[in-house]
This record gives sequence, structure tokens and C-alpha cells, in this order.
Amino acid sequence: MNSRANSCVIHGNNFDISNILLTFAPVMTESISQLKQILAFPRQIVIIAHRNPDGDAIGSSMGLASFLEKTGHNVKVVFPSDYPQSYKFIKGIEKAVVFDNDQAAARKAVDDSDVIFCLDFNGLDRIDKLGENVQFSKAKKILIDHHLDPEPFTDIEFSETESSSTCELVFKVIDELGERHKIDPDTGECLFTGLITDTGSFRYGTRPYTYEVAASLKQLGVDDYKLADKIFNSQKEKHLRLLGHCLANRMEIIQDYGVGIMWLTRKDYTDFDIQRGDTEGIVNYMLMMENIRVAAFVLEQPSIIKISLRSKGDISVQEIAQKYFNGGGHKNAAGGGVYASLQDIIEKVKKVMPVHLDRLV
Ligand code: 5GP
Ligand code: MN
Repeated sequence: MNSRANSCVIHGNNFDISNILLTFAPVMTESISQLKQILAFPRQIVIIAHRNPDGDAIGSSMGLASFLEKTGHNVKVVFPSDYPQSYKFIKGIEKAVVFDNDQAAARKAVDDSDVIFCLDFNGLDRIDKLGENVQFSKAKKILIDHHLDPEPFTDIEFSETESSSTCELVFKVIDELGERHKIDPDTGECLFTGLITDTGSFRYGTRPYTYEVAASLKQLGVDDYKLADKIFNSQKEKHLRLLGHCLANRMEIIQDYGVGIMWLTRKDYTDFDIQRGDTEGIVNYMLMMENIRVAAFVLEQPSIIKISLRSKGDISVQEIAQKYFNGGGHKNAAGGGVYASLQDIIEKVKKVMPVHLDRLV
């Protein structure tokens, strides 16, 4: 290779890029050839993401659906529970079946399919009762996911915990199928959505490949400025009032261990007219404090206490979520659900943090 062709001048220094690999992500040859065989004929495909779908679950499902439709398959997207209204701009999302709104249609879609893609979740308990239909289905099941420790419920696994998002992995799978040229700006916008949301706007969870995918999607025409505007600047007054309430009245700081705890009561849900997705992102505010290393958000939902955990650096909230709150997720972002009282769970958070964290002062 001509090293002169690969060198460029940055701020007056000669910078040699000949040793820089452009693709850092491992290849998935065997699973790709299995998938290629399955997709060689027009299929009846169902794509399922986890309950309370977020930007990555929605973007990866809708992006994969848009790609598969273009390649001649019949595709239905099924979400176990409704998606936040801030994602209604995603093309085709109105055609998605929501299990909570139409159980019969969701079950029928799964039962009638011959291929099931499971996106952005690692265990059947993440899709509630739909899990039964998936478990007993004769369809070929394919996992595309970046959570830790996937359960073995699928036939083909594309599981990479180093991947920033499931959207990044969907791009990679399409690319390795040799079909990158079929990703158009609409599909690209869906996939870019998960890149933005699961990395907190490229602040965490990235690897070099993440930026390669972002660059490729931007190159093909995704307007990332407009997309971020649609994702983040669509809040209503009530969302900011709720955030203010959480910060002013529902936050406790445990200075000794660098932990922030927030909670919302059932009455708050009524008073602030909190709908699905309205609390998303609030937990992250606590990490904006210099010494806070772990943030816990405890939500008193109608039948269950839901907990969202976030951490900085090497602290694994995934372990904490799994061990104490019947949940899981990623090292720095995890969650769970427990049948108990709000007060019990707040107390439990206060009790378990000192077991996992060093004292700061
Ligand atoms: P969030 O706090 O935004 O609801 O979720 C953060 C992360 O934790 C997500 O990646 C999600 O998949 C995971 N997570 C949230 N709730 C649960 C749960 O109840 N069980 C499991 N296994 N993972 C969860
Ligand atoms: Mn994700």
C-alpha cells in the first residue's frame, strides 16, 4: 500500500492513517449465511421488541421492517406495550401492532409468522405474555441484541454487548448480508434514532464502528440535526413541570456513597398526567452532579414498582438490577420490576448501595 496516499496533514503534523483499521467490529460469518438462506424466499416475518419500547427498540424494529419489506417480505412489527408519542414521526409506526391494545392481533401475527426477529431484548420475560407465543412458535427465531447474557430462546443469535445499540447491529447485519445499498434514508433515519438515543447523543457506549455507521447513514442522506430535533424537542409543558417536580421534591442524595435516588408516587402519576414514556430520561439528570456515581429512579406504577438504574464508569448497575430488582440490562443502564411498596424499594436501594459501592467520604 502506498503510504503517501494514506497520510494527511492535520494542524501541520504528518498524520499516518495507514495503520488504522476502519472496521473494528467482529464479523459474524456463520450466522449471516444461515440468515441469508432463510431470507432467500419471501417470508411472513414478525419483528418484536421489548415492552416500553425506547428509541433503540423502535428504531431497530422499524428500520429492519422497512429494509425487509423492500426486499420482498411481508413484515409486521409487534410491540408488547405502547410506544411514546415522541416517536410517532417514525415512518410506518402507526401500522405496528401493540399487544396491550390488541392482544388477539398481536398473538395472531406471531402465530402466523414463519420468521420471528427478536430485537433489543435478551429474554422472553421482556415481552410479557407474547413470550408464550414466541416460545411455542415453530417459526425460525432470530435474535439481534446488545444486552448482556442473552437467554437461548432463538435459533440464530446476533448478540454483541459491545454494540452501542441494536440499531448499530441491525446495520451491521444488513451490511454483512451484502445489502447495505438497500438502506435508504427512511430506513437510515430509523437506525440513526437508536444510535442517538442509546448513546445519549454519542456520549457513552460507543465504539469506533458506531461512528462508522453514523457516518454511513449521514452519507446516504439522514439529516441528523432534524432527527435529533424531532426526538428531543417534542416535549410538552407537562414534561418540564414533571422534571421540575422530580428535581425539587422527589430527589434524595446519599453523599457518602455518591448515590442519587428519585421516586414518583401513584398520586404523582395522576397529578402530572404521566403517560408511558413521560419519565424517560429523567433519571439521567442525577448523574449531572459531579460526585454522583449511581442514580436510581423508583416508580410506583399501577401494579408494580419499576426501577431504573444508571451508573458512571466501572460500576455495574446490571448486577444490582439482576440481584435485587428482578431485572437486568447493561452495565451502566439497567432496570427491573418488583411487587412491593414504594417505600420498601426506596429503603432497599439505600441498603444495597453500600454493599456495592465504596464509601466516598
Ligand atoms: P430503563 O431504565 O430505561 O427502563 O431501562 C434501562 C435498561 O435496562 C434497558 O436496556 C432495559 O432493557 C433494561 N431493563 C429495564 N427494565 C428491565 C426489566 O424489568 N428487566 C430486564 N431484564 N431489563 C430491564
Ligand atoms: Mn438498546
